[in-house]
Amino acid sequence: MMKQYPRYVSVILDVAVDKALDYGVPEKLVDAAVRGSRVAVPVRGHLRYGYILEVKDSCSYPRVVPIHDVISSDAVITEELFEVALWLSKYYCSSLRQALKTIIPSTIRRGFSHKEQLFVKRNASRDALRKVCEEYRNKHSSQSEVLDVMLRVKKGIFLSELMELAMVSRSPIDSLVKRGHLSCDVVRVDRSPLVGVEYFKTKAKVLNDEQSSSFSAISKTLDDKAFATHLIYGVTGRGKTEVYLQAIQRALDMGRGAIMLVPEISLTAQTIERFKSRFSDTIAILHHRLSHGERYDEWHKILTGEARIVIGARSAIFSPVKDLGLIIVDEEHESSYKQEDEAPCYHARDVAVMRGSMSGAAVVLGSATPSLESFYNAQQGKYHLHTLHSRHNSATMPVVTIVDMKESRKRTHGSEFSAELLDGIKKRYDSGEQSLLFLNRRGYHTAQMCKTCGHVMGCENCDVAMTYHRKSNMLSCHLCGNTIVPPPRSCPECGSSDSLHYRGVGTEKIESALHAIFPEIRTIRLDADTTRHKGSHEKLLRDFRNGKADVLIGTQMIAKGLHFPEITLVGVLNSDMTLNMPDFRSSEQAFQLITQVSGRSGRGVVAGEVILQTYLPTNSTILHASRQDYTGFYGEEISSREIFEYPPFSQMVKISFSGAEEKATLSSAESFRKELLRRLPRGFKVHPVTPTGHAKVKNRYRFHFLVRGPSIFTLNDAINASKKDFPSQKKCSLLINISPQTTFF
Ligand code: ADP
Ligand code: ZN
Ligand code: ZN
Repeated sequence: MMKQYPRYVSVILDVAVDKALDYGVPEKLVDAAVRGSRVAVPVRGHLRYGYILEVKDSCSYPRVVPIHDVISSDAVITEELFEVALWLSKYYCSSLRQALKTIIPSTIRRGFSHKEQLFVKRNASRDALRKVCEEYRNKHSSQSEVLDVMLRVKKGIFLSELMELAMVSRSPIDSLVKRGHLSCDVVRVDRSPLVGVEYFKTKAKVLNDEQSSSFSAISKTLDDKAFATHLIYGVTGRGKTEVYLQAIQRALDMGRGAIMLVPEISLTAQTIERFKSRFSDTIAILHHRLSHGERYDEWHKILTGEARIVIGARSAIFSPVKDLGLIIVDEEHESSYKQEDEAPCYHARDVAVMRGSMSGAAVVLGSATPSLESFYNAQQGKYHLHTLHSRHNSATMPVVTIVDMKESRKRTHGSEFSAELLDGIKKRYDSGEQSLLFLNRRGYHTAQMCKTCGHVMGCENCDVAMTYHRKSNMLSCHLCGNTIVPPPRSCPECGSSDSLHYRGVGTEKIESALHAIFPEIRTIRLDADTTRHKGSHEKLLRDFRNGKADVLIGTQMIAKGLHFPEITLVGVLNSDMTLNMPDFRSSEQAFQLITQVSGRSGRGVVAGEVILQTYLPTNSTILHASRQDYTGFYGEEISSREIFEYPPFSQMVKISFSGAEEKATLSSAESFRKELLRRLPRGFKVHPVTPTGHAKVKNRYRFHFLVRGPSIFTLNDAINASKKDFPSQKKCSLLINISPQTTFF
């Protein structure tokens, strides 16, 4: 055909069109239009945005039109990350559009302005605004949502954050500015979360023999500019982080960059400080609490090469680091590295290994309780295993006591605290040491129930019991946030009054029960309820470290990575919680959690003690965890995985369906399952369709089924083919989850 344009491109649009569309490139845009650059193109008379997937010399589509403009001069997404996107979409059965959306933060996609931001302030007194807010409540509800937020902020707030918090578009804010209630001005800021913080510099430590041998193996991979994966296995406090620090230094010395992933929950000031104080280089920090502006700045620092070290949670694996030499995944077993509720359901550790192999980088995974998959890979010789045995400080392993709660409750008339635990807490209190109490449930009581008819107060939108919170005197749904204030006095089912009672305990109840026993004791509670506000998490931890409390009570938030030398007692109130979950990973998760919580004890000079309360005192997972015996646990668990053909001995996929109509959703799931069965060769097991652990969430019914088999790519192909034929009904949504972390929910 005739050549109309000097160059052609195929473009992946942001909007839901999964096919790439072809456009011509006019002469003046030829230089700017490279693979990965962001472009504006006409689609049926509207301007739409997307990325250049490919640049080519010809185009077979006869009526091709030109691109409108190239938005960013340099590629928003590097060639390397483009390859990652292609792999992501293939491996995790998602569209390329979704993969790109995952990789590039929305602030970058939207071309968020550089360093200059609009800052919104109150233009009248709080009292005056409160009146306006109430007045607008019904007529201009979005304006009153904006005022609700404005009444809470200190001095003011960035426009983008305000829009996000109030969940409104820009127009209600503009109206309020026009009416003189608010003001909005341009400010210039450096939004880096670390600006203005000074750190004492620390020097590299002389490595012990085990550290040195892992360090030199990693260095060798770096020097060879090759790809290899190293697994460092060592109980907390054995010096993994020191090896990470020196490996990063090595990569920097070679002029290469490094990504360090840590679980969101352990991305605390303490962790950041440890890294900041070692390197004079700029470090970019990425986590989900950043504002749009902060994220934009951090991302640009990485893209321009100003920051060669990135520390971040899950999605930091997609940072556009230049000449990437090293990727570290600390606590590689953490389930928060897996995106579970949105496509692509990627695992940052697995992406790390893939990205390492694509860019010829060294990958280092570290854990005190490696995931079964990673340890198995090490056993198979796919990863290099390095074990750190010796402890660095003088602290010894904690002494662990297992308490049989069935017996204990008989003696204490049903108390949540065993005599052993109370003795332990008292002893620590008397000698000025600190204790930590762990319970995996927040709230006061975990359910409200009718004694007469057995009815449990459930959420009207979800299939779950509502939790009672005493401070706010309400029932709340932890899935959708629905609340009932105050809780009902009589049973909505059978009408009887005085028959409602509460069951199950959460952290709030444990705190008040402890005060009832020891009125003098000072406690700090750390859970999702006490850490709502930005900065409160850090503040509570700081207070505890500064000795403002004797006991720290909390959920898994306190289990990870914290270093408190003064804690000499750890009490796990109910060690069995995760064990009772019908999931093939439940033993693994219980083992990891108990081992980690126990590891919080005795990290200073005084030896620590751990008390595990359990109803299953002879359960082998609990016994292995109480001895911190990872290899014993691994040996037992891996053989049971092998017998039942669970990962790592098979590939697993969970396919979930959700929709507003129960029957229609179920039948979609059934018909998809039939399609898949038809396409899969022998050797693949397709489980039956079942309602998920929460059969209804936010008024949507949920069903799923599992598929297991020997090859992931055969599975991918069959799924993709079935997806094509699957009538894309708006009513029912489909989520493909490759290697799911949980098979129950
Ligand atoms: P992990 O990351 O395995 O929990 P860390 O690297 O944090 O272990 O080490 C625990 C403590 O031991 C830290 O205070 C660290 O500074 C110290 N440490 C680690 N390696 C050495 C070393 N080779 N020489 C002296 N102290 C060390
Ligand atoms: Zn009743
Ligand atoms: Zn709900």
